[in-house]
Amino acid sequence: MKVVEKFTSINGGEGTRAGELAVFVRFKGCNLRCSYCDTMWANEPDCPYEEETPEEILNYVLGTGIRNVTLTGGEPLLQKDIRELIHLLLQAGLQVEIETNGAVDLSAFCEERPVFTMDYKLPSSGCEEYMITENMELLGKDDTVKFVCGSQKDLLKALDVIQTYNLTNRCHVYLSPVFGSIEPVQIVEFMLKHRLNGVRLQIQMHKVIWDPNERGV
Ligand code: SF4
Repeated sequence: MKVVEKFTSINGGEGTRAGELAVFVRFKGCNLRCSYCDTMWANEPDCPYEEETPEEILNYVLGTGIRNVTLTGGEPLLQKDIRELIHLLLQAGLQVEIETNGAVDLSAFCEERPVFTMDYKLPSSGCEEYMITENMELLGKDDTVKFVCGSQKDLLKALDVIQTYNLTNRCHVYLSPVFGSIEPVQIVEFMLKHRLNGVRLQIQMHKVIWDPNERGV
């Protein structure tokens, strides 16, 4: 598996584990190129990486003594051995969260049921056309759909998707600002205006705690 970084930090603000300690494993490569991507370096062909087996990654995670594991990227579900890794981590009794971009069919990964935090890419990302909306039917109460919003147009589209797929009755729903493109207060005003019950504002905690450009946190 192509690992570009592994580190311990806090879960940056998604799902019910937000704010808890977590181990992060970031994999190389992505099938999208979002306009606001802050980990594009991990997607470049010449990005250095370590080749690691699922067993090696499991041993690293166990060695940290932390029970929450977040697999991220890039797009982690593109890794060839990702199903084996998910299996090993779950077998070890760990809480496994997968950050996925909405452009990978989740049906192949539902058997063992890790927790999914799935993006729905809105218009300003430039990648909305790649969203696999059938994934919405596969999500359950422990999963999250995250909308990263950079404009009012994005917010309106998020509202449409939330209503179309009845997301607030299905899973957690987060609206998160594109850092520097929209102010959190604009999202709050939108939530109030449309009475978005069951939807949460998410601020990327690591950008508040550390320098916004800091890696490995
Ligand atoms: S899906 Fe995520 S990692 Fe891939 S380009 Fe978009 S923001 Fe970056």
